[in-house]
Amino acid sequence: MTYQAPLADIGFALKYGAGFSAALDEGLFGDLSLDVVDAVLAEAGRLSSEVIAPLNRAGDKFGTAFKDGIVTTAPGWKEAYATWRNGGWNGLAAPEQWGGQGLPQSLNIACIEMWNAAAMAFAVGPLLTIAAVDALHAHGSEALKKTYLAKLVSGEWTGTMQLTEPQAGSDVGALRTRAERAPDGSYRLKGQKIFITYGEHDLTDNIIHFVLARLPDAPPGTRGISLFLVPKFLLQPDGSIGARNDVRAHSVEHKLGIHGSPTCTMILGDGTGAIGYLVGAENGGMSAMFTMMNRARLAIGLQGVGVAECATQQALAYARERRQGRVAGMPANQSAPIIAHPDVRRMLLTMRAQTAAARALCYATALALDHSERGADAAARKAASDRVSLLTPVAKAFSTDIGIEVASLNVQVHGGMGYIEETGAAQLLRDARISAIYEGTNGIQAIDLVTRKLPLAGGAAVAAYGDELRGIVRALKATNDPGLGCTPVRLEEATESLARATEWLLSRLDKGPDAALAGASPYLRLFGIAAGGCLLGQQALAAMRLGENAGAYVALARFFAENVAVQAGALERTVVDGAEGVIGADAALS
Ligand SMILES: Cc1cc2nc3c(=O)[nH]c(=O)nc-3n(C[C@H](O)[C@H](O)[C@H](O)COP(=O)(O)OP(=O)(O)OC[C@H]3O[C@@H](n4cnc5c(N)ncnc54)[C@H](O)[C@@H]3O)c2cc1C
Repeated sequence: MTYQAPLADIGFALKYGAGFSAALDEGLFGDLSLDVVDAVLAEAGRLSSEVIAPLNRAGDKFGTAFKDGIVTTAPGWKEAYATWRNGGWNGLAAPEQWGGQGLPQSLNIACIEMWNAAAMAFAVGPLLTIAAVDALHAHGSEALKKTYLAKLVSGEWTGTMQLTEPQAGSDVGALRTRAERAPDGSYRLKGQKIFITYGEHDLTDNIIHFVLARLPDAPPGTRGISLFLVPKFLLQPDGSIGARNDVRAHSVEHKLGIHGSPTCTMILGDGTGAIGYLVGAENGGMSAMFTMMNRARLAIGLQGVGVAECATQQALAYARERRQGRVAGMPANQSAPIIAHPDVRRMLLTMRAQTAAARALCYATALALDHSERGADAAARKAASDRVSLLTPVAKAFSTDIGIEVASLNVQVHGGMGYIEETGAAQLLRDARISAIYEGTNGIQAIDLVTRKLPLAGGAAVAAYGDELRGIVRALKATNDPGLGCTPVRLEEATESLARATEWLLSRLDKGPDAALAGASPYLRLFGIAAGGCLLGQQALAAMRLGENAGAYVALARFFAENVAVQAGALERTVVDGAEGVIGADAALS
């Protein structure tokens, strides 16, 4: 089966899980109406289901052919990209000044989920272009913006993000690509980058590379990194495409998943040096690249959600069809669809609830981004910006971990057929795996959360978020609705576990951070579980209030609270009590 966009779930999660409707009522989005929002979602759903999803298998099978420096994408991909970009989707949330539609980031994020659910290898390219637009808009000179932004916003050209080198992966500060100042104010770059997504392809006439490099007199480490815009083709004075720049793809990787996405080794400066233009200040490259990375990290979180959604749809369809064994009271000559077996139901509910929790968390992060850009005053924008900073690593890592787990459960629901490529379940699992590795591994996200985000505003950002989660728990308690079962109690336990683990980590950071670092990944999971559970609770409350599919939303929130959020206590103990055993366990690793 191919992916069908779950428009009702997406719309409800956006409007009531993340709080889009309340923001709209407060006037955050001017005269935007819910009708327009629904129409955008419906069209994105149609395009993703009808145009992009059917290409997913072709991309997996064909991969990316590489010959004489040229990459050919899978049959149909070029046409699908043209359809997608002609629909204006690349610039949905981009500034109107550069030809974008200026719509909310959170609406764009919901669409990004759909593109990725349809074909992750297809969607990862535009995702980076959209992030490049943000970085250039925030940090580029007026001249660079005038020359490149409109074409990137329209998707006529794509953008790449080039950090990684053989010796510089998570440790970006170790990069060696050199940039020399040229007399005309531009720069000449020489070096090698590896694993560059869509570094070369046949979808567009030009590719705009965003490359991190080091000036000759740069200080060591990340303080000495600058960001450069390096076009594949240089431009003529009138903006038309000119000579080929000294940058090329040397090869494409053969990899576990996302076969349709070209992952390139790039050579800059074989000859006189690749011509590059500085974005932001010299040695200020990391802050410019962080704008790009943070946008991309949230979008990668949506890859997790998208794959999880697609896997859940597949599993449900298969479980309704496949018949094995009997349920109590069934005649001996009959067999039941496997969805009737409690263990299969548990798997399916785990898939659906985890997907919904990750979705709500990603959308909430995106809505905070909207508040940070459009908030009424500086204080509101700053608080929202801190919220985005706090939630981004959780949205990325929690959601992509969920994507992998749900894709793996999909294989399990399919039994042996899940292991056979024909069903497509294996492809989803293979594709999902990279999302926990690129854009900063999930381990690096957890370290970022603990060491940089918890201390934000002296701990006030995380404290405010904890208070908000407690508010949801109180509202759930106040309903006294028996349908919620133990939901309020379990979520209260989870939020209190999160609060205690946060306090413990903050107290350890000043005393040599090893103990905090050892607990960072379980802490991020605890954070995701507590926040995701509460956001599902918030959705259930809205569904009860509105009388809209309340049975389903309450059941989902309840399942998550009673079956997933209960892990919070164990995770708290792992964070608080387990660190010593990690740090002192040399013998076990010998
Ligand atoms: C398909 C694909 C596409 C990619 N696309 C791009 C792209 O477009 N642009 C780009 O620049 N890069 C890209 N990458 C590179 C990707 O971002 C890196 O692979 C990733 O950041 C991890 O770096 P690494 O592979 O060197 O692993 P390493 O940094 O060597 O990490 C190995 C392990 O050690 C852990 N680790 C490393 N350092 C620490 C630390 N300080 N503390 C705790 N744990 C640590 C990591 O979490 C990981 O588990 C891509 C990679 C792939 C496979």
